[in-house]
Amino acid sequence: MSSTLTGGCLCGAVRYECSARPLMSGNCHCRDCQKSSGGGFVAVMAVPAASLKIEGQVKYFESKADSGNTFSCGFCPECGARLFGKSSGEPRLAMIAAASLDDPSVYQPTLDFFTSHAQPWDPDPSYRLSGDEFGSI
Ligand SMILES: [Zn+2]
Ligand SMILES: [Zn+2]
Repeated sequence: MSSTLTGGCLCGAVRYECSARPLMSGNCHCRDCQKSSGGGFVAVMAVPAASLKIEGQVKYFESKADSGNTFSCGFCPECGARLFGKSSGEPRLAMIAAASLDDPSVYQPTLDFFTSHAQPWDPDPSYRLSGDEFGSI
């Protein structure tokens, strides 16, 4: 059985495959992820950049992170699906949006980032610091 991860955008213009296992899997709740996805968080996997092969044209939107690094968010110019991320601070790593996988069920998050920006309507209870008001879910 192959451990290759495969996926692509909504319209199919961009396809990718990754030959390595994710080094890190987590949900990012930062405002950039919320703004770019329209959801409460983006599920991302970090993989060695050298293991990621991309077919098709990807457009990158760059923004400055709080760390001073430039974060580039890669998306399909045809359908706008958000697929990749990379930081100037760690060029050996590439981020893949887990929901773009052909089989997103292989994603196993172990971390939540920027939970201070998590929205109260976000249903994932795993990062709640106070259980009281959300105790019933
Ligand atoms: Zn597309
Ligand atoms: Zn984020």
